[in-house]
Amino acid sequence: MPPSLQETIPLPAALHNYFGFQEFRPLQQEAIEAALSGQDVLVVMPTGAGKSLCFQLPAALSDGLTLVVSPLVALMRDQVEALRALPEFSKIGVAAISSLQDSAEQSMVLDDLAAGQIRLLYVSPERFRSGAFRNILSQVSVARFVVDEAHCISEWGHDFRPDYLQLNSIVESLGKPPLIAVTATATERVRESIVRNLGMRNPQTFIGGFNRPNLHYSVHRCKSDPHKLEMLAKALPKLCGKGGSGLIYAATRKQCEEVAEVAARALAPHGIRAAAYHAGLGADDRLELQRRWQSGEIAVLAATNAFGMGIDKPDVRFVVHYAHPESLESYYQEAGRAGRDGRPSRCVILYHFADRRLREWFIDNDSMTADDIQTALKLICRTSDGDTSLIYPEQWKAKLNWTSVKIRLAIGELERAGMVERISETADQWIVRILQRQFSLADMDKIQFDLDRLRQERLRRLDEMVNYCKTTGCRRRATLRYFGDELPASDAKSTFCCDNCSRPESEEPPAIHKPLSKIAMPKSIDAGDIYSVLEGLDALWPTVGKARLIKVLRGSKAKDVERFHDSPMLGIFENISVASVEAFILELIDSGLMHQGDEDEYFVCSITEKGRAAWENRTPLKVLLPSRRHQTPKNTSSKPDHDNEDFSEAEKVLFDKLKQWRTNQARQESVPAYIVLSNQAIEDLTYHKPKTEAELIQARGIGEMKVQKYGAALLDLIKEEPRA
Ligand SMILES: [Zn+2]
Repeated sequence: MPPSLQETIPLPAALHNYFGFQEFRPLQQEAIEAALSGQDVLVVMPTGAGKSLCFQLPAALSDGLTLVVSPLVALMRDQVEALRALPEFSKIGVAAISSLQDSAEQSMVLDDLAAGQIRLLYVSPERFRSGAFRNILSQVSVARFVVDEAHCISEWGHDFRPDYLQLNSIVESLGKPPLIAVTATATERVRESIVRNLGMRNPQTFIGGFNRPNLHYSVHRCKSDPHKLEMLAKALPKLCGKGGSGLIYAATRKQCEEVAEVAARALAPHGIRAAAYHAGLGADDRLELQRRWQSGEIAVLAATNAFGMGIDKPDVRFVVHYAHPESLESYYQEAGRAGRDGRPSRCVILYHFADRRLREWFIDNDSMTADDIQTALKLICRTSDGDTSLIYPEQWKAKLNWTSVKIRLAIGELERAGMVERISETADQWIVRILQRQFSLADMDKIQFDLDRLRQERLRRLDEMVNYCKTTGCRRRATLRYFGDELPASDAKSTFCCDNCSRPESEEPPAIHKPLSKIAMPKSIDAGDIYSVLEGLDALWPTVGKARLIKVLRGSKAKDVERFHDSPMLGIFENISVASVEAFILELIDSGLMHQGDEDEYFVCSITEKGRAAWENRTPLKVLLPSRRHQTPKNTSSKPDHDNEDFSEAEKVLFDKLKQWRTNQARQESVPAYIVLSNQAIEDLTYHKPKTEAELIQARGIGEMKVQKYGAALLDLIKEEPRA
């Protein structure tokens, strides 16, 4: 065997020889050295940081075949074309086998492979199902096995590809050549599963290149959608002032159109154009928009995440997210479209706490149940011919109303469960072999477990995204930490970093929620405010007891309230007395909308199912505040809420009557009087004189149980009295 080239040429010279570059980018040389020394290597770098070079150069410098497994046919084709255009690479034999080639082209590549003419070969993971292919492989010497987009092997992502799980045994069958796994998105959990599922042996891990020093990150807290649009309209002329172009990502088609309209209006006086781009437009329209944006004719595009794949426009000066995406990975990728030319650019999120719900809705929408999987299997069996079945995704979409993502996940899940095996796949037709036609109960349990875990993982990532929006620390560091990368020392002192870093230390984070409504001295709290409280309660973290909840509701400036600065209920009862706010809370508890735990639960306040349903469905609600007297602002005295002096003569009669009724009732039941009705309840009944059960339940100390038990009797009593 001739000596390897690596022994004769120093790496920087080889880099120049093969690629024409003068120097390596960070971590490339280290990763290549480790690979050439025969170690397993895991490279985690973002797109554009040069991670492919970490296996391409070793392929050029080693004897034998470097096999690259890649899930994306288009990506394979691009890399092969790019390498073939390099003079030195064209000599070593670079090829791909993919479903884009006809069988004549495929067999030509296989012949070259058998003849030892190919040094770098790209294949899809499904290729290993071909016996002919495996047969040829067994006859050539495989120097290195590369797994591109290695996160596809992780059960923690929805890019999961069941075929990737077979790669471990394929590597074994090839005599365990050294492995290189490469990915752009890998959190610690995903990295662990890559190493485990591929059976990597003490891999050297290289994570880097995630820092984009020319990007500035900021999050603007908004109190509502109109507020977002307002901020956007204000910010856009400034963002566009630096020239170049911009992107605004919206979560839905409707948002996208709204945002584009506001942007167009705000920018028109400056002679700048904006437009909307989403999947609802025809393919031609989308191409045309993309062209006009690329050429700079339209400066700002409001787009859904359907936009951006394969977009590489160097002078994008800003990327605004009208709503945060589902994960930090997505955010990093989308925001990362800014500043590809290395010039200062801005990444902005308009944040409203309710955006999370929209993302949860998306997650639920393409989440599956074991029943869905069973439906998919039935459909496959029904259209089968013997053991094989043809799947037409378009038919499935129409029949089941599923997204393409969901169809892919369902078939993937069936493969993972060993029910079917994919034979071939094109955009409009899949062929699968049926291995089993019936699920056992254990299968169903296992599948449901997997699906639940996937959903939990997506929610966990969503949490991380929301944490990014809410952090008061450095956003750049938070992102790098998420990817396992570190801030290079040279960038640590940069003044161009994020909103949190540029804020003077004494400055408080801006309050998002000014009181939604100023309530001077209401007799009742209307539904809108109650919904805000319930919504805030639902999202409240960490949990709090009643005393702190009162502080939050009254917008206290106390230290222990600071962390709730983005709660929708902060300061909603700014002008209301402590006693009245407490009464309001007791109302919520009594009407079953809210729960307060006991001593063991540290008296923690939480929303009940009923409460959640009430605000989600906007159930008509009204809470009456008990006292005229104690709604006086700043009155924090702890005197009883009602004073009989407040009552009219007629009310005093009713009050006494109610008390008398209570005494009788208590005697009948042999319980203390307060068990029947509290004094506060009697005061409220006297004061508000409810006419219906729904009104009755608004009184303090009266819940559903009491309404059931005493409702009719109490309403009769109250009805007898003339209204004061
Ligand atoms: Zn920072």
